[in-house]
Amino acid sequence: MEQISAIVARVAQLQQLVAPTPAVVARPATAGTSTSFADALAGAVAAVAVDTSPSSVRRVNGDPLPQGLARYENGRIPADALSPVGDTGHRLWQPAAEALTRLVADARAQGVTIGITDSYRTYETQADLVRRKGLYSQGGLAAAPGTSDHGWALATDLRLDDQAQAWMRANAARYGFAEDTPREPWHWAFQT
Ligand SMILES: [Zn+2]
Repeated sequence: MEQISAIVARVAQLQQLVAPTPAVVARPATAGTSTSFADALAGAVAAVAVDTSPSSVRRVNGDPLPQGLARYENGRIPADALSPVGDTGHRLWQPAAEALTRLVADARAQGVTIGITDSYRTYETQADLVRRKGLYSQGGLAAAPGTSDHGWALATDLRLDDQAQAWMRANAARYGFAEDTPREPWHWAFQT
């Protein structure tokens, strides 16, 4: 629904742009070519539909959003679209949840304890975090609401002692996780 309303809003913008243009409004229709507003509108809708395709949605780090997530808005992913991370009570996008579950179990088997302190964050939780911890761009520790990889259910914050931090740096990439935020050694994002 959000995508449809976004298209409707964009078409309204395009109508405003197109309407005053004499070349479009006043050009006489000629046989074999069609310049009707309906056709122009259809073309604009098709162009907008391409613009909002999944590959055009980008994460905060610039990576394209996975197709399965692009239908949602950041921080507005329904709980049943996410998967549990083991029995931790945390939820992430399914491939990230499965990878993190394996990662934690494999670390434990090697005597390394990795705790999870945060995972998916709703938009409201992101906004609250900005109020409490400040914007990252201004020296704080929170992404602008609606941009965090936590809002895409693709990031986790971990409780790591020195041994666990070293284990993550040596092994996390094999599970698809990267330490991608300076000043936040606890923050690990799933790479897609
Ligand atoms: Zn984080």
